[in-house]
Amino acid sequence: MNIIEYEIVVVGGGHAGYEAAHAAASMGAKTALVTLSPDMIGQLSCNPSIGGIAKGHLVREIDALGGIMGRIADRTAIQFRLLNRSRGPAVQAPRTQNDKRLYRLETVKLLKEKDLLDIIKAEASTLLFENNKLSGIELSDGSVLKSSFVILATGTFLKGRCFIGDWYFKSGRSGDQSSDRLAESLRRLDLEISRLKTGTPPRLDRKKLDLTLLDEHRGDEDPTFFSFDTCPGEQEFPPQHPCWLTYTCEEVHQVIRDNLHRSPLYGGIIKGIGPRYCPSIEDKVVRFPDRDRHQLFIEPEEAGSDVLYINGLSSSLPLDVQEAILDRIPGLTSKAMIRPAYAVEYDFVQPRELLLTLELKKVPGLYLAGQICGTTGYEEAAALGLMAGINAVLKLRGKDPFYLGRHESYIGILIEDLVNHGVDEPYRMFTSRAEYRLVLRIDNADRRLADYGFQLGLNSISRMERFRSKWKRIDEARNFLEKTRLSESLAGSDQLINEMGFPKGSLISVLIRNPSFTQEMVNKILLANGHQLVPEELRAIHNEIKYEGYIRQQDAEIKRLKNVEKLRLPTEIVYRNIPGISTEMSERLEKSRPATLGQASRIPGLNPATISVLHIYLSTREK
Ligand SMILES: Cc1cc2nc3c(=O)[nH]c(=O)nc-3n(C[C@H](O)[C@H](O)[C@H](O)COP(=O)(O)OP(=O)(O)OC[C@H]3O[C@@H](n4cnc5c(N)ncnc54)[C@H](O)[C@@H]3O)c2cc1C
Repeated sequence: MNIIEYEIVVVGGGHAGYEAAHAAASMGAKTALVTLSPDMIGQLSCNPSIGGIAKGHLVREIDALGGIMGRIADRTAIQFRLLNRSRGPAVQAPRTQNDKRLYRLETVKLLKEKDLLDIIKAEASTLLFENNKLSGIELSDGSVLKSSFVILATGTFLKGRCFIGDWYFKSGRSGDQSSDRLAESLRRLDLEISRLKTGTPPRLDRKKLDLTLLDEHRGDEDPTFFSFDTCPGEQEFPPQHPCWLTYTCEEVHQVIRDNLHRSPLYGGIIKGIGPRYCPSIEDKVVRFPDRDRHQLFIEPEEAGSDVLYINGLSSSLPLDVQEAILDRIPGLTSKAMIRPAYAVEYDFVQPRELLLTLELKKVPGLYLAGQICGTTGYEEAAALGLMAGINAVLKLRGKDPFYLGRHESYIGILIEDLVNHGVDEPYRMFTSRAEYRLVLRIDNADRRLADYGFQLGLNSISRMERFRSKWKRIDEARNFLEKTRLSESLAGSDQLINEMGFPKGSLISVLIRNPSFTQEMVNKILLANGHQLVPEELRAIHNEIKYEGYIRQQDAEIKRLKNVEKLRLPTEIVYRNIPGISTEMSERLEKSRPATLGQASRIPGLNPATISVLHIYLSTREK
């Protein structure tokens, strides 16, 4: 029997798996990444794109901490767009259309740069224990990877079943085997495990479509990147490509309504719950009966291929119904179908089983990350993978765990929501989940998180030097704008005073709050006075000055919250005697006996109302 010893073993080469393995190896741990197919490491299983609102925020945070998703996405993008450009800075976010093949190649390239990381092609089949302690995993060929720290990032593969109408087959995603033995091994651990589902749309052949009939959508001329390292001048990007827009119509909706009983979802064959916010076309028709059309984006999957992804048309309806749908959508035809849409149902572990470090409470040393713990989306998976990788290495080294608060990152929100509240449908990130959205902007993710990445060993000294000189440039420019008044003697202000009529004597920082005083105007003054900034830095300053009042309010609230966090709960406290605390909540508190209000707020299942009651109780007791 072949036995190899590793400090960390990661199972899965999806977005959670590659971030976990990269982080662990970067932090100096001898790491194995086990995957069913190394060629598919970094596969974009569904949409060929990264980012979007809130998801783009996650990618920026991953990058600031030293993860790799942002770099990969930038280097393989065939279209860049900043979403919500006309709205407030809290909800603006980058999104890229990516070349799937290049994305996989770039991921493997970055992983191969890590000397401490081995990529192993195998099926992980059984979790191994010695004296009731996790001791590694067995592979399906009988060999063993010994390790006290295993991260499972197996996505939709655990007992994966794919459905097209009433036809179904075992598979983790089309073309890949399902992971049944590992699912059985997990089920023996007395964990809460149930089923979720997700789906993907059909792929069409561009050669068989006349896309000139459809609206074309091009990317931004001035791309917004995910990675703080991406420099347009220093790097080559693949050729940029457009997308196209079309719509379903009433005729399509009628076909769907007539065939709903043939959908495995509506026919009751699929029991797992799907993502409410990323519904199949049949879900959309049922849930929004008044809508006479639904938008569909036609997106290229790779720069040099004719495969198109029909964003918005995911389905589990039978093949003949899918064909009938395609034949009724303007610009599309069933003759172009390369692969049908399908749904996949899989096992997931209820994330309430996890600690905030993503380690299973019942199985020390075993971590979960990505879709296996109830999320959906590449970005959510990558964020969890990064945090699981970091925490596994910290525990291995006997160091304190690394948590992120919800006041400082979307990653913190993601983990707190999962662990404290669990999921009853695939969890996806939204900006509305953040209490302090104006503080959690894409332009300041580096300020919020890069230092942590440095302390963890994920950000190099040279990267930190680049960050620090950027922050210095921003601070100096901001300082200048806050002290300088518009006057004829100020370089670059001629046109602003004489042609545009901005009042002399006004502080520039005050003028910035006026919507007609644009970012370009600010830049002109800065440039004329020796402050050279790139658009991203300029945007950060503009946002900070323009929304200063709100940001200050949110900062004050965060500070107040931090103080509340530290409030000590007396050891003699009898929770069941406090009015307003239910029996269920007092039992949870009695069981955990938290030392502070902050710890209490992280007890799984403890509701915010109970925290408020405890806060009031502590304040009145003090008085
Ligand atoms: C059909 C389909 C539709 C989807 N639709 C959407 C969508 O609409 N929107 C959205 O945001 N997301 C969607 N997703 C989800 C998206 O693909 C995932 O959220 C994301 O890829 C999850 O990343 P992950 O790292 O958790 O797992 P994955 O990317 O699925 O990677 C899992 C990895 O685990 C490996 N693996 C599994 N079992 C074993 C084993 N026993 N031994 C060794 N290796 C193993 C696999 O080889 C693979 O490398 C969809 C996924 C699928 C399959």
